[in-house]
Amino acid sequence: MKCPYCKEEILQDAVKCKHCGEWLIQQKVLKENIKKVHAKQHDSYQAFTAIALLLPLVGFILGIIYLTKHSLLERKLGEHTITMSVVGTILSYVILGAFDRSLF
Ligand SMILES: [Zn+2]
Repeated sequence: MKCPYCKEEILQDAVKCKHCGEWLIQQKVLKENIKKVHAKQHDSYQAFTAIALLLPLVGFILGIIYLTKHSLLERKLGEHTITMSVVGTILSYVILGAFDRSLF
């Protein structure tokens, strides 16, 4: 490993550079923290993606089930549920797209 300050060769787990005397522990902690934050963002992004794709699908299926019912009210409910699931899918793609650009 090379010292980020003087570029001299130092030990992998060095806490302080023996050449220039700079402390290296802060950089290590900072890098690890950045990695942790990125991992957390990635996890929440994946969870949000799963929810955003699953919820409209559930709504769509429910809507189709209600469309097969006999009463007008239930069929109307089915139509609205399908409309909402389509709108929800479009919205989630827009939101996910914006989130995607801000992350990477
Ligand atoms: Zn150094």
